[in-house]
Amino acid sequence: MARYDPNNIFAKILRGELPAHKVYENSDTMVFMDIMPRSDGHMLVIPKTPCRNFLDASPEQLAAVMATAQKMSHIAMRAFDAQGVTVQQFNEAAGGQEVFHLHFHILPRRDGDTVRPPG
Ligand code: 5GP
Repeated sequence: MARYDPNNIFAKILRGELPAHKVYENSDTMVFMDIMPRSDGHMLVIPKTPCRNFLDASPEQLAAVMATAQKMSHIAMRAFDAQGVTVQQFNEAAGGQEVFHLHFHILPRRDGDTVRPPG
């Protein structure tokens, strides 16, 4: 697996070098809106520390990101009047990953809706 590239887009957002619509942050994680939302309220949850994807994540990074993903899923249910939430995560290009900093997609859902496939 390739090494972590500190010039990936999400690392630049973390450093404040690129803008993002941030909706939450704590000491370990940041959450911002996806620039090409696939459902109303599509958010991305990332760790603040370098991590390429699920495959090189530490237990601490996973615990922090999953706790924030759960918190934001509850908030998304209320904020977007959703009836469900899809949580997605992709690893390496073959697995559908496009930005190589660990992230979980939070997709608020409603009964009978359709979500555009990634890419
Ligand atoms: P992946 O396929 O790597 O899981 O998805 C990467 C996601 O990042 C995509 O949903 C894409 O729309 C989103 N994205 C790509 N570039 C930017 C950006 O500059 N800002 C934000 N907020 N999202 C981005």
